[in-house]
Amino acid sequence: MSTLTPPFSDEHEQLRQSIRGFIDRELAPHAAQWEQEEWFPDEVFPKLAKQGLLGLKYPTAYGGQGGDYLHESVLCEEMARIGSGGTAAGIGAHTNIATPPIWKFGTAEQKQRYLVPSIAGELIGALGITEPGAGSDVAALSTRAERVDGGWVLNGEKTYITNGVRAHFIVTAVKTTAEGGHHGISFLIVDRGDGVTSSKLQKLGWHASDTATIAFEDVFVPEENLLGELNEGFKLIMANFQWERLAMSLGAVGAMTLAWERTAEFARERQAFGRPLSGHQTIRHKLAEMATSVYTCRCVTYDALRRFVAGEEPLKEVSMAKLLTQRACYELMDECLQIHGGAGYMREYWVERAARDARLGPIGGGTDEIMREILGRVLAL
Ligand SMILES: Cc1cc2nc3c(=O)[nH]c(=O)nc-3n(C[C@H](O)[C@H](O)[C@H](O)COP(=O)(O)OP(=O)(O)OC[C@H]3O[C@@H](n4cnc5c(N)ncnc54)[C@H](O)[C@@H]3O)c2cc1C
Repeated sequence: MSTLTPPFSDEHEQLRQSIRGFIDRELAPHAAQWEQEEWFPDEVFPKLAKQGLLGLKYPTAYGGQGGDYLHESVLCEEMARIGSGGTAAGIGAHTNIATPPIWKFGTAEQKQRYLVPSIAGELIGALGITEPGAGSDVAALSTRAERVDGGWVLNGEKTYITNGVRAHFIVTAVKTTAEGGHHGISFLIVDRGDGVTSSKLQKLGWHASDTATIAFEDVFVPEENLLGELNEGFKLIMANFQWERLAMSLGAVGAMTLAWERTAEFARERQAFGRPLSGHQTIRHKLAEMATSVYTCRCVTYDALRRFVAGEEPLKEVSMAKLLTQRACYELMDECLQIHGGAGYMREYWVERAARDARLGPIGGGTDEIMREILGRVLAL
């Protein structure tokens, strides 16, 4: 299926081929082992950095490639080819949610201290928003930063944080007023150190990633680590969500495309009742429906991306893309698994992992229900 569709050009297609080659050589061959070990090595980050893949959208002044969100989009789509949702998630958490707020809202000094080494693969970042008592209802978070001489003292707990064990720094949402809420949340860049402890969680999919609970106990954070404006962190959360949701939509489009191609190939080869599976009308029609779903998801996502890159604030289109693609990806993976029959249930087949990994989409980065709530507001319902 061609990906050479606006907004992508020949230049992006060349980047796509180069990323694909790198993933096929350096990452995909290790996917099964990393999933089994429930960890991918930190060395993946400097490897990606050497290829320029941790700074595609960042200015050259910070060691980036001087590209834009379209270049980054190519990486988002291609990461499905790693064959490990967990590895893609760990890389994506660093490039798509932890470092962008530093780039957009950080001081010159914060960019030198965190963004430059992040692009170089020397530091790994995480974004810490979710808490045991505050997920969809972000404004209810209770991790508290108390003012002290020269900075803040932090107490509280974050959960389900991607890169939560390995991250050197956590871009953390905290309450900086007693009430918290929309005008009482700020962001602090918290270095791993005294008082910061992580514990890895076991999960259905994304096995290679370290999703963790992070506890902060009397953690001192210096004044200069306040990211963005005091008490205006809620705006930062909302700004960050748009790219995160687009990146997830692009990831789903990449994963669906690959899964469809592989499943169609399987259906052409696998024989049942004297002919290939694709020779049975039910399977052929199922594959035709699935190709339509891939195409629809691609069109809706690319439309939201075009608007985002053009500088619009496409809250409606991004929310629709996130809602549509994550559920469609999960459903498509289940169909792919079904077409593989018993093989689809076996660890040795890619589809078993892909189906588990896809379940996160309708939950992470804002659930399906929250997307519908946002759309309800945007559509004045
Ligand atoms: C593998 C993984 C990785 C993650 N990585 C990160 C990360 O790196 N950083 C981070 O900060 N967070 C991360 N998250 C957290 C993720 O963003 C949250 O899990 C998600 O936002 C949902 O929050 P919750 O789990 O607290 O569910 P809840 O908010 O408790 O929701 C439970 C259910 O109720 C529904 N619901 C809630 N409110 C409403 C409503 N108003 N109307 C209708 N239905 C509603 C939800 O849709 C959901 O179905 C990760 C989660 C997972 C599973």
